[in-house]
Amino acid sequence: MKRDFFQSVNGSIQADIIVVGAGLVGLAAAIACAKLGKKVVVVDAQKTAIGKQLTWDARIYALTANTEAWLKALGVWAEVDASRVNMISGMQLWDAQDNKLALYEDDANLDKLGVIIENQNLTYALNQLVSSLGVTVITAVECVSLQNTRQHINLGLADGRSISANLMIAADGVGSWVRSQANIAVKHKDFNQTAIVANFLAENHHANIARQWFGPHETLALLPLPKKHVSMVWAVSTGQAAELLTLSSDALAERVQARTHNELGGLRVVGKVLSFSLRQQTATQLIAERVVLVGDAAHQIHPMAGQGMNLGLRDVRQLQEMLTNTHAMQDIGEHAFLRKYARARLADIVTMNTLNSGLDALFVNDSAVIKKVAGWGFKQLNHQTTLKKLLIQQVA
Ligand SMILES: Cc1cc2nc3c(=O)[nH]c(=O)nc-3n(C[C@H](O)[C@H](O)[C@H](O)COP(=O)(O)OP(=O)(O)OC[C@H]3O[C@@H](n4cnc5c(N)ncnc54)[C@H](O)[C@@H]3O)c2cc1C
Repeated sequence: MKRDFFQSVNGSIQADIIVVGAGLVGLAAAIACAKLGKKVVVVDAQKTAIGKQLTWDARIYALTANTEAWLKALGVWAEVDASRVNMISGMQLWDAQDNKLALYEDDANLDKLGVIIENQNLTYALNQLVSSLGVTVITAVECVSLQNTRQHINLGLADGRSISANLMIAADGVGSWVRSQANIAVKHKDFNQTAIVANFLAENHHANIARQWFGPHETLALLPLPKKHVSMVWAVSTGQAAELLTLSSDALAERVQARTHNELGGLRVVGKVLSFSLRQQTATQLIAERVVLVGDAAHQIHPMAGQGMNLGLRDVRQLQEMLTNTHAMQDIGEHAFLRKYARARLADIVTMNTLNSGLDALFVNDSAVIKKVAGWGFKQLNHQTTLKKLLIQQVA
Protein backbone atom coordinates (compact mmCIF):
# COMPACT_ATOMS: atom_id res chain seq x y z
CA MET A 1 0.00 0.00 0.00
CA LYS A 2 1.47 3.36 -1.06
CA ARG A 3 1.28 6.23 1.42
CA ASP A 4 -0.73 9.24 0.37
CA PHE A 5 2.11 11.70 0.85
CA PHE A 6 3.73 10.85 -2.50
CA GLN A 7 1.51 13.31 -4.31
CA SER A 8 2.74 14.62 -7.54
CA VAL A 9 3.24 18.40 -7.50
CA ASN A 10 3.64 19.83 -11.03
CA GLY A 11 4.41 16.33 -12.29
CA SER A 12 7.13 15.86 -9.67
CA ILE A 13 6.98 13.18 -6.95
CA GLN A 14 7.60 14.80 -3.56
CA ALA A 15 9.60 12.97 -0.90
CA ASP A 16 11.95 13.65 2.01
CA ILE A 17 14.64 11.30 0.80
CA ILE A 18 15.54 9.75 -2.56
CA VAL A 19 17.67 6.63 -2.40
CA VAL A 20 19.41 5.91 -5.71
CA GLY A 21 20.33 2.20 -5.85
CA ALA A 22 18.22 -0.70 -4.59
CA GLY A 23 21.18 -2.89 -3.64
CA LEU A 24 21.34 -4.15 -0.07
CA VAL A 25 22.80 -0.92 1.30
CA GLY A 26 20.21 1.23 -0.52
CA LEU A 27 17.32 -0.95 0.67
CA ALA A 28 18.61 -0.88 4.26
CA ALA A 29 18.89 2.93 4.05
CA ALA A 30 15.32 3.16 2.73
CA ILE A 31 14.04 1.02 5.63
CA ALA A 32 15.98 2.95 8.28
CA CYS A 33 14.65 6.28 6.95
CA ALA A 34 11.06 5.07 6.43
CA LYS A 35 11.01 3.78 10.02
CA LEU A 36 11.82 7.30 11.16
CA GLY A 37 8.70 8.53 9.37
CA LYS A 38 10.52 9.88 6.30
CA LYS A 39 8.90 9.75 2.89
CA VAL A 40 11.32 7.67 0.84
CA VAL A 41 11.53 6.91 -2.88
CA VAL A 42 14.02 4.29 -4.09
CA VAL A 43 15.18 4.33 -7.72
CA ASP A 44 17.19 1.62 -9.45
CA ALA A 45 18.29 1.31 -13.07
CA GLN A 46 17.76 -2.48 -12.96
CA LYS A 47 14.64 -4.53 -12.38
CA THR A 48 15.20 -5.75 -8.83
CA ALA A 49 12.18 -7.96 -8.09
CA ILE A 50 13.32 -11.11 -6.32
CA GLY A 51 11.40 -14.26 -5.45
CA LYS A 52 11.74 -16.66 -2.54
CA GLN A 53 14.96 -18.63 -2.70
CA LEU A 54 15.08 -22.19 -4.02
CA THR A 55 18.72 -22.84 -4.91
CA TRP A 56 22.04 -22.01 -3.24
CA ASP A 57 23.27 -18.51 -4.07
CA ALA A 58 26.99 -18.20 -4.80
CA ARG A 59 26.92 -14.56 -3.60
CA ILE A 60 27.12 -14.60 0.18
CA TYR A 61 28.06 -12.11 2.88
CA ALA A 62 29.91 -12.61 6.12
CA LEU A 63 28.10 -10.21 8.42
CA THR A 64 29.53 -9.27 11.78
CA ALA A 65 27.56 -9.97 14.95
CA ASN A 66 27.07 -6.20 15.23
CA THR A 67 25.59 -5.92 11.75
CA GLU A 68 23.29 -8.86 12.42
CA ALA A 69 22.09 -7.26 15.67
CA TRP A 70 21.38 -3.99 13.85
CA LEU A 71 19.45 -5.76 11.07
CA LYS A 72 17.47 -7.55 13.78
CA ALA A 73 16.63 -4.25 15.48
CA LEU A 74 15.57 -2.84 12.11
CA GLY A 75 13.12 -5.74 11.68
CA VAL A 76 14.92 -7.25 8.68
CA TRP A 77 15.82 -10.51 10.39
CA ALA A 78 12.18 -11.38 10.90
CA GLU A 79 11.89 -11.68 7.09
CA VAL A 80 15.09 -13.73 6.67
CA ASP A 81 14.92 -17.50 6.14
CA ALA A 82 16.89 -18.45 9.27
CA SER A 83 17.36 -22.04 8.10
CA ARG A 84 19.70 -20.74 5.38
CA VAL A 85 21.87 -18.66 7.74
CA ASN A 86 24.99 -20.12 9.38
CA MET A 87 26.77 -18.70 12.38
CA ILE A 88 30.54 -18.22 12.52
CA SER A 89 31.91 -19.36 15.85
CA GLY A 90 35.58 -19.15 14.92
CA MET A 91 38.13 -18.22 12.27
CA GLN A 92 41.17 -20.24 11.26
CA LEU A 93 43.76 -18.49 9.10
CA TRP A 94 46.86 -19.96 7.47
CA ASP A 95 49.73 -18.03 5.92
CA ALA A 96 51.89 -19.19 3.00
CA GLN A 97 54.22 -21.05 5.41
CA ASP A 98 51.20 -22.84 6.90
CA ASN A 99 51.43 -20.97 10.23
CA LYS A 100 47.98 -21.04 11.73
CA LEU A 101 46.08 -18.36 13.62
CA ALA A 102 42.84 -19.42 15.31
CA LEU A 103 40.31 -16.95 16.68
CA TYR A 104 37.19 -18.06 18.51
CA GLU A 105 34.17 -16.27 19.93
CA ASP A 106 35.47 -16.94 23.49
CA ASP A 107 38.65 -14.94 22.72
CA ALA A 108 36.50 -11.80 22.70
CA ASN A 109 33.71 -12.96 25.07
CA LEU A 110 31.20 -13.05 22.23
CA ASP A 111 28.42 -15.56 21.46
CA LYS A 112 29.57 -15.72 17.84
CA LEU A 113 31.82 -13.82 15.48
CA GLY A 114 29.16 -13.31 12.84
CA VAL A 115 26.91 -15.04 10.35
CA ILE A 116 26.99 -16.08 6.70
CA ILE A 117 23.92 -15.21 4.68
CA GLU A 118 23.17 -15.61 0.99
CA ASN A 119 22.56 -12.50 -1.12
CA GLN A 120 19.15 -13.69 -2.26
CA ASN A 121 17.96 -14.42 1.28
CA LEU A 122 18.91 -10.96 2.55
CA THR A 123 17.68 -9.17 -0.60
CA TYR A 124 14.30 -10.89 -0.33
CA ALA A 125 13.98 -9.94 3.34
CA LEU A 126 14.89 -6.29 2.71
CA ASN A 127 12.46 -6.05 -0.22
CA GLN A 128 9.65 -7.53 1.89
CA LEU A 129 10.20 -4.91 4.58
CA VAL A 130 10.55 -2.06 2.08
CA SER A 131 7.22 -2.99 0.56
CA SER A 132 5.46 -3.43 3.92
CA LEU A 133 6.66 0.05 4.96
CA GLY A 134 5.07 1.56 1.86
CA VAL A 135 8.32 2.87 0.38
CA THR A 136 7.90 3.78 -3.30
CA VAL A 137 10.32 1.73 -5.41
CA ILE A 138 10.88 2.71 -9.04
CA THR A 139 12.98 0.24 -11.00
CA ALA A 140 14.19 -0.42 -14.54
CA VAL A 141 14.50 3.26 -15.35
CA GLU A 142 17.63 5.36 -15.87
CA CYS A 143 18.38 8.50 -13.91
CA VAL A 144 19.07 11.28 -16.41
CA SER A 145 19.38 14.59 -14.56
CA LEU A 146 20.20 16.00 -11.15
CA GLN A 147 19.50 19.59 -10.13
CA ASN A 148 19.70 21.49 -6.90
CA THR A 149 17.45 24.32 -5.83
CA ARG A 150 17.90 26.15 -2.53
CA GLN A 151 15.84 23.63 -0.59
CA HIS A 152 15.58 20.57 -2.77
CA ILE A 153 17.37 18.14 -4.98
CA ASN A 154 15.50 17.09 -8.13
CA LEU A 155 16.08 13.82 -9.92
CA GLY A 156 14.90 13.42 -13.50
CA LEU A 157 14.14 9.94 -14.85
CA ALA A 158 14.34 8.69 -18.43
CA ASP A 159 10.57 8.01 -18.47
CA GLY A 160 9.87 11.72 -17.93
CA ARG A 161 9.06 11.49 -14.22
CA SER A 162 10.94 13.59 -11.68
CA ILE A 163 11.37 13.32 -7.94
CA SER A 164 12.06 16.15 -5.53
CA ALA A 165 13.44 15.68 -2.01
CA ASN A 166 15.51 17.32 0.72
CA LEU A 167 18.23 14.67 0.65
CA MET A 168 19.56 12.10 -1.79
CA ILE A 169 21.31 8.97 -0.57
CA ALA A 170 23.61 7.66 -3.29
CA ALA A 171 23.71 3.86 -2.91
CA ASP A 172 24.28 3.15 -6.59
CA GLY A 173 27.39 1.06 -6.19
CA VAL A 174 30.97 1.24 -7.35
CA GLY A 175 30.26 3.03 -10.65
CA SER A 176 27.91 5.52 -8.92
CA TRP A 177 26.08 7.80 -11.35
CA VAL A 178 25.17 10.20 -8.55
CA ARG A 179 28.81 10.46 -7.48
CA SER A 180 29.90 11.44 -10.96
CA GLN A 181 27.00 13.92 -11.36
CA ALA A 182 28.13 15.48 -8.09
CA ASN A 183 31.69 15.74 -9.48
CA ILE A 184 33.17 13.63 -6.68
CA ALA A 185 36.42 12.02 -7.73
CA VAL A 186 37.61 8.56 -6.61
CA LYS A 187 41.00 7.12 -5.68
CA HIS A 188 41.66 3.66 -7.12
CA LYS A 189 43.95 0.86 -6.25
CA ASP A 190 43.89 -2.00 -8.69
CA PHE A 191 44.77 -5.36 -7.13
CA ASN A 192 44.97 -7.03 -10.55
CA GLN A 193 43.01 -9.81 -8.92
CA THR A 194 39.75 -11.60 -9.61
CA ALA A 195 37.61 -13.32 -7.00
CA ILE A 196 36.19 -16.70 -7.98
CA VAL A 197 33.07 -17.42 -6.00
CA ALA A 198 31.32 -20.80 -5.68
CA ASN A 199 29.54 -23.03 -3.17
CA PHE A 200 30.62 -26.57 -2.34
CA LEU A 201 29.16 -29.49 -0.47
CA ALA A 202 31.94 -30.71 1.83
CA GLU A 203 32.61 -34.24 3.03
CA ASN A 204 33.50 -33.05 6.56
CA HIS A 205 31.40 -30.64 8.59
CA HIS A 206 32.86 -27.13 8.81
CA ALA A 207 32.01 -26.90 12.55
CA ASN A 208 30.90 -23.25 11.98
CA ILE A 209 34.50 -22.18 11.35
CA ALA A 210 35.38 -19.61 8.66
CA ARG A 211 38.69 -20.76 7.15
CA GLN A 212 41.07 -18.65 5.13
CA TRP A 213 44.38 -19.37 3.41
CA PHE A 214 46.73 -16.53 2.46
CA GLY A 215 49.48 -16.82 -0.13
CA PRO A 216 51.41 -14.57 -2.48
CA HIS A 217 48.85 -12.91 -4.79
CA GLU A 218 45.96 -14.94 -3.42
CA THR A 219 43.57 -15.56 -0.54
CA LEU A 220 41.07 -18.39 -0.37
CA ALA A 221 38.19 -18.40 2.09
CA LEU A 222 35.80 -21.27 2.84
CA LEU A 223 32.87 -19.91 4.79
CA PRO A 224 30.30 -22.07 6.61
CA LEU A 225 26.81 -22.50 5.18
CA PRO A 226 24.08 -24.84 6.47
CA LYS A 227 24.06 -28.59 5.84
CA LYS A 228 27.83 -29.08 5.25
CA HIS A 229 27.90 -26.48 2.50
CA VAL A 230 30.70 -23.95 2.29
CA SER A 231 31.01 -20.80 0.25
CA MET A 232 34.35 -20.12 -1.43
CA VAL A 233 35.82 -16.72 -2.23
CA TRP A 234 39.19 -17.30 -3.95
CA ALA A 235 40.98 -14.10 -4.88
CA VAL A 236 43.79 -14.82 -7.34
CA SER A 237 45.73 -12.91 -9.99
CA THR A 238 43.56 -12.14 -12.97
CA GLY A 239 45.73 -14.47 -15.11
CA GLN A 240 45.28 -17.40 -12.71
CA ALA A 241 41.56 -16.71 -12.50
CA ALA A 242 41.25 -16.98 -16.28
CA GLU A 243 42.83 -20.44 -16.06
CA LEU A 244 40.70 -21.57 -13.08
CA LEU A 245 37.54 -20.45 -14.83
CA THR A 246 38.21 -22.84 -17.74
CA LEU A 247 38.17 -25.87 -15.36
CA SER A 248 35.24 -28.27 -15.09
CA SER A 249 33.37 -28.25 -11.74
CA ASP A 250 35.13 -31.45 -10.65
CA ALA A 251 38.58 -30.15 -11.61
CA LEU A 252 37.92 -26.87 -9.74
CA ALA A 253 36.79 -28.81 -6.65
CA GLU A 254 40.02 -30.85 -6.78
CA ARG A 255 42.14 -27.69 -7.03
CA VAL A 256 40.35 -26.14 -4.05
CA GLN A 257 40.69 -29.35 -2.06
CA ALA A 258 44.44 -29.43 -2.76
CA ARG A 259 44.90 -25.70 -1.96
CA THR A 260 43.04 -26.07 1.35
CA HIS A 261 45.11 -29.14 2.33
CA ASN A 262 42.04 -31.35 2.32
CA GLU A 263 40.85 -29.57 5.46
CA LEU A 264 37.18 -30.40 4.77
CA GLY A 265 37.72 -33.64 2.85
CA GLY A 266 36.07 -34.08 -0.56
CA LEU A 267 34.33 -31.10 -2.16
CA ARG A 268 31.58 -30.94 -4.79
CA VAL A 269 30.54 -27.73 -6.58
CA VAL A 270 26.89 -26.77 -5.94
CA GLY A 271 25.38 -24.20 -8.30
CA LYS A 272 27.13 -21.55 -10.34
CA VAL A 273 30.77 -20.44 -10.36
CA LEU A 274 30.98 -16.62 -10.54
CA SER A 275 33.86 -14.17 -10.82
CA PHE A 276 34.40 -10.53 -9.79
CA SER A 277 37.37 -8.29 -10.60
CA LEU A 278 38.74 -6.66 -7.47
CA ARG A 279 39.89 -3.17 -6.67
CA GLN A 280 39.87 -0.69 -3.88
CA GLN A 281 38.11 2.57 -4.62
CA THR A 282 37.40 5.43 -2.26
CA ALA A 283 35.45 8.60 -2.99
CA THR A 284 37.47 11.72 -2.19
CA GLN A 285 34.37 13.21 -0.51
CA LEU A 286 31.41 11.51 1.13
CA ILE A 287 28.99 14.38 0.62
CA ALA A 288 27.97 16.96 -1.98
CA GLU A 289 25.11 19.44 -2.11
CA ARG A 290 22.11 17.54 -0.61
CA VAL A 291 23.86 14.23 -1.38
CA VAL A 292 25.48 11.59 0.84
CA LEU A 293 27.36 8.60 -0.50
CA VAL A 294 26.90 5.20 1.19
CA GLY A 295 28.10 1.65 0.51
CA ASP A 296 30.25 0.87 -2.50
CA ALA A 297 29.39 4.26 -4.02
CA ALA A 298 31.54 5.68 -1.21
CA HIS A 299 34.12 2.93 -0.76
CA GLN A 300 34.84 -0.42 -2.36
CA ILE A 301 37.27 -2.63 -0.47
CA HIS A 302 38.94 -5.99 -1.09
CA PRO A 303 36.68 -8.86 0.04
CA MET A 304 39.50 -10.70 1.86
CA ALA A 305 38.33 -9.37 5.23
CA GLY A 306 34.62 -9.74 4.31
CA GLN A 307 33.85 -6.17 5.40
CA GLY A 308 32.44 -4.23 2.41
CA MET A 309 28.76 -4.77 3.16
CA ASN A 310 29.33 -4.32 6.91
CA LEU A 311 31.04 -1.00 6.21
CA GLY A 312 28.21 0.13 3.92
CA LEU A 313 25.59 -0.75 6.53
CA ARG A 314 27.58 1.20 9.13
CA ASP A 315 27.22 4.25 6.82
CA VAL A 316 23.47 3.73 7.01
CA ARG A 317 23.59 3.36 10.80
CA GLN A 318 25.38 6.68 11.06
CA LEU A 319 22.72 8.39 8.95
CA GLN A 320 19.98 6.68 10.96
CA GLU A 321 21.52 7.93 14.20
CA MET A 322 21.78 11.49 12.88
CA LEU A 323 18.22 11.50 11.52
CA THR A 324 16.92 10.11 14.83
CA ASN A 325 18.43 13.04 16.69
CA THR A 326 17.19 15.84 14.44
CA HIS A 327 14.60 18.40 15.53
CA ALA A 328 11.46 18.97 13.47
CA MET A 329 12.86 22.07 11.70
CA GLN A 330 16.19 20.50 10.72
CA ASP A 331 16.95 20.69 7.01
CA ILE A 332 18.35 17.18 6.51
CA GLY A 333 20.09 18.15 3.28
CA GLU A 334 21.88 21.13 4.79
CA HIS A 335 25.66 21.16 4.34
CA ALA A 336 26.53 21.53 8.04
CA PHE A 337 24.32 18.53 8.87
CA LEU A 338 25.87 16.38 6.14
CA ARG A 339 29.38 17.38 7.20
CA LYS A 340 28.76 15.59 10.51
CA TYR A 341 28.12 12.41 8.53
CA ALA A 342 31.33 12.80 6.54
CA ARG A 343 33.38 13.45 9.66
CA ALA A 344 31.80 10.57 11.59
CA ARG A 345 32.41 8.00 8.84
CA LEU A 346 35.99 8.89 7.99
CA ALA A 347 37.86 6.93 10.68
CA ASP A 348 35.98 3.66 10.04
CA ILE A 349 36.53 3.85 6.28
CA VAL A 350 40.24 4.67 6.68
CA THR A 351 40.65 1.79 9.19
CA MET A 352 39.03 -0.72 6.82
CA ASN A 353 41.11 0.49 3.86
CA THR A 354 44.25 0.25 5.99
CA LEU A 355 43.33 -3.22 7.27
CA ASN A 356 42.83 -4.49 3.74
CA SER A 357 45.90 -2.74 2.33
CA GLY A 358 47.90 -4.08 5.28
CA LEU A 359 46.76 -7.64 4.63
CA ASP A 360 47.43 -7.08 0.94
CA ALA A 361 50.99 -5.92 1.68
CA LEU A 362 51.59 -8.86 4.04
CA PHE A 363 50.22 -11.66 1.92
CA VAL A 364 50.18 -10.46 -1.67
CA ASN A 365 53.80 -9.42 -1.44
CA ASP A 366 56.65 -11.58 -2.72
CA SER A 367 59.29 -10.07 -0.45
CA ALA A 368 60.98 -12.72 1.72
CA VAL A 369 61.28 -10.26 4.61
CA ILE A 370 57.59 -9.39 4.53
CA LYS A 371 56.68 -13.08 4.32
CA LYS A 372 58.79 -13.74 7.41
CA VAL A 373 57.13 -10.89 9.28
CA ALA A 374 53.71 -12.23 8.31
CA GLY A 375 54.66 -15.74 9.47
CA TRP A 376 56.07 -14.39 12.72
CA GLY A 377 52.86 -12.40 13.19
CA PHE A 378 50.59 -15.44 12.87
CA LYS A 379 52.70 -17.61 15.19
CA GLN A 380 53.06 -14.91 17.85
CA LEU A 381 49.52 -13.62 17.57
CA ASN A 382 48.13 -17.09 18.10
CA HIS A 383 49.45 -16.94 21.69
CA GLN A 384 48.43 -13.34 22.43
CA THR A 385 44.96 -13.31 23.92
CA THR A 386 44.70 -9.50 24.20
CA LEU A 387 45.86 -8.91 20.63
CA LYS A 388 43.46 -11.60 19.39
CA LYS A 389 40.62 -9.87 21.17
CA LEU A 390 41.60 -6.56 19.57
CA LEU A 391 41.76 -8.18 16.14
CA ILE A 392 38.32 -9.73 16.56
CA GLN A 393 36.91 -6.39 17.69
CA GLN A 394 38.08 -4.88 14.38
CA VAL A 395 36.12 -7.36 12.31
CA ALA A 396 33.25 -8.64 14.49
C1 LIG B 1 33.53 -11.58 -4.15
C2 LIG B 1 33.01 -10.64 -3.12
C3 LIG B 1 32.73 -11.11 -1.84
C4 LIG B 1 32.28 -10.22 -0.86
N1 LIG B 1 32.04 -10.71 0.39
C5 LIG B 1 31.64 -9.86 1.35
C6 LIG B 1 31.41 -10.34 2.69
O1 LIG B 1 31.57 -11.52 2.98
N2 LIG B 1 31.02 -9.45 3.64
C7 LIG B 1 30.85 -8.13 3.36
O2 LIG B 1 30.52 -7.35 4.28
N3 LIG B 1 31.04 -7.65 2.11
C8 LIG B 1 31.44 -8.47 1.10
N4 LIG B 1 31.63 -8.00 -0.14
C9 LIG B 1 31.37 -6.58 -0.44
C10 LIG B 1 29.89 -6.35 -0.77
O3 LIG B 1 29.48 -7.24 -1.78
C11 LIG B 1 29.66 -4.91 -1.23
O4 LIG B 1 30.29 -4.02 -0.36
C12 LIG B 1 28.16 -4.61 -1.27
O5 LIG B 1 27.49 -5.53 -2.12
C13 LIG B 1 27.88 -3.20 -1.74
O6 LIG B 1 26.48 -3.01 -1.75
P1 LIG B 1 25.86 -1.67 -2.35
O7 LIG B 1 24.38 -1.79 -2.10
O8 LIG B 1 26.60 -0.49 -1.85
O9 LIG B 1 26.18 -1.73 -3.90
P2 LIG B 1 25.59 -2.71 -5.02
O10 LIG B 1 25.30 -4.05 -4.48
O11 LIG B 1 26.54 -2.61 -6.17
O12 LIG B 1 24.19 -2.06 -5.43
C14 LIG B 1 24.13 -0.90 -6.23
C15 LIG B 1 22.72 -0.78 -6.79
O13 LIG B 1 22.66 0.44 -7.54
C16 LIG B 1 22.04 0.20 -8.78
N5 LIG B 1 22.55 1.19 -9.73
C17 LIG B 1 23.77 1.22 -10.31
N6 LIG B 1 23.86 2.28 -11.13
C18 LIG B 1 22.68 2.93 -11.07
C19 LIG B 1 22.15 4.10 -11.68
N7 LIG B 1 22.86 4.81 -12.57
N8 LIG B 1 20.90 4.48 -11.39
C20 LIG B 1 20.14 3.77 -10.51
N9 LIG B 1 20.58 2.64 -9.91
C21 LIG B 1 21.83 2.24 -10.17
C22 LIG B 1 22.41 -1.23 -9.14
O14 LIG B 1 21.47 -1.78 -10.05
C23 LIG B 1 22.36 -1.90 -7.77
O15 LIG B 1 21.07 -2.39 -7.48
C24 LIG B 1 32.09 -8.85 -1.16
C25 LIG B 1 32.34 -8.38 -2.45
C26 LIG B 1 32.80 -9.27 -3.43
C27 LIG B 1 33.10 -8.74 -4.81
